[in-house]
Amino acid sequence: MVEVAAGISNTAGFCYWDCLTPRPYFWIYMLLKFISNFLFPPRCLSCERAVAAQDGLCGECFAGAQLISEPCCRLCGHPFELAFAPVSKSILVCRRCQRLKPTFTAHRAVMLYSVAAKNIILPLKHADDTKMAKFMARMMSARAASFIDKVDVVMPVPIHFLRLLKRKYNQAALLARLIAMDSGKEFLHDTLVRIRATESQGTKTPRERAVNVSRAFRVRDRNAVRGKSVLLVDDVYTSGATLNECAKVLRWAGAKRIYCLTFAKTGRVRQLG
Ligand SMILES: [Zn+2]
Ligand SMILES: [Zn+2]
Repeated sequence: MVEVAAGISNTAGFCYWDCLTPRPYFWIYMLLKFISNFLFPPRCLSCERAVAAQDGLCGECFAGAQLISEPCCRLCGHPFELAFAPVSKSILVCRRCQRLKPTFTAHRAVMLYSVAAKNIILPLKHADDTKMAKFMARMMSARAASFIDKVDVVMPVPIHFLRLLKRKYNQAALLARLIAMDSGKEFLHDTLVRIRATESQGTKTPRERAVNVSRAFRVRDRNAVRGKSVLLVDDVYTSGATLNECAKVLRWAGAKRIYCLTFAKTGRVRQLG
């Protein structure tokens, strides 16, 4: 029986492992945690300022993070600036999604890609700093609360084998594994594969990005996704081209629904209409 530890005051300071500690070992765990906090004082993941608990943000960074909430686009999850909500949330679709009609069922991100988001994502992506992963996965699981129950399997956006050799790990796979563990869903780490090493999407336009990732993915085992609802995980949503290309391939392989989840989404809050 897993029991939630008492004394959780806010999301920023809440330790991931607190909720996974079985009761018989609770006091031993708390003692070890006290010693660990004494030897290695907890620091904010974004700015390194001293904080109360490990694996969290300080109040200032948390306040500076532009968390995404409703109302947002029903498809890509981009937030709208809306003084009041005169219409049903379910019919809100942004102009870009009306024009491009994404293949995925829905996408949600935790926050907009701001300085705070960058400070969390870049060390995980480029500096082998995996301590961010637990915090990011916890926030992403909470953001996916509205559709996580509908999901059968969790998988990452894959990186090419050559890039994996260079980077040593796929940060999306790290996040997807933690989210699958947290939700009790099956984790498929190599069902979707990248068969072509694409150029960096960094400076490309949305159209160039879509061309760049076209036919770059393949489903290795169709039976693993046929008739299933898939949760596709990545760290950042920029134009949505990569997630949409993965969604197309998964749809061809027979996946029923493709939900996408990222930590940050680029762009600004848009006016509705
Ligand atoms: Zn901070
Ligand atoms: Zn949209």
